[in-house]
Amino acid sequence: MNKPMPLALTISLLLSTTALAESDYRQHEAHVHGQAELNIAQDGSELLIEMTAPGADVIGFEHAPKTDAQIIALNDIAARLTQAEKLFTLSSNAGCTVSHTDVSHTLSNEDHDHHDHHDHHDHHDHHDHHDHDIHLDTDDNSSHGSFTIQYHYQCSDISKLSSIESHWFDIFPSTESIQVNIFTDKTQNALTITPKQDRIAL
Ligand SMILES: [Zn+2]
Repeated sequence: MNKPMPLALTISLLLSTTALAESDYRQHEAHVHGQAELNIAQDGSELLIEMTAPGADVIGFEHAPKTDAQIIALNDIAARLTQAEKLFTLSSNAGCTVSHTDVSHTLSNEDHDHHDHHDHHDHHDHHDHHDHDIHLDTDDNSSHGSFTIQYHYQCSDISKLSSIESHWFDIFPSTESIQVNIFTDKTQNALTITPKQDRIAL
């Protein structure tokens, strides 16, 4: 059993290990249970709020839905996540209204395109989307799936946007903290919010 391993086999093992590590990295990127990520980006009078959260904290599982109950739960969650006003309260005098919403998830093992492409400053891809977009994947594999929710707002006076209150913790109590990245004309900042401090100053 001490014979050296054939070179071809060594290489193929190395390659498969690398591929595994890469897919592992992609699935676990910004994915720690109990932690969500929130990006807030301004582009002129438009504001994008993008939330990414582990499936475990949003719906309690991270694979493609397998049972009728899981399918119902997923539809229910997706409908709730389209209600931006239930999740975030923006300074009222900024006059921000939701222009469109995009909810997607990666509750399957399949390699997706739709969860890698979100460029916070490029809103043009999304203008065709309807308010209740949900990308449902039915692959029957287990994985660390996440939800990504994008709320696009048009603001009549975005300079008056001084705070965003998150109600995420009330709705998804498994979330312990949210990493917030802010890219607005006034503020470029990274901070953490918690159930005790869920107001974001801009
Ligand atoms: Zn997970």
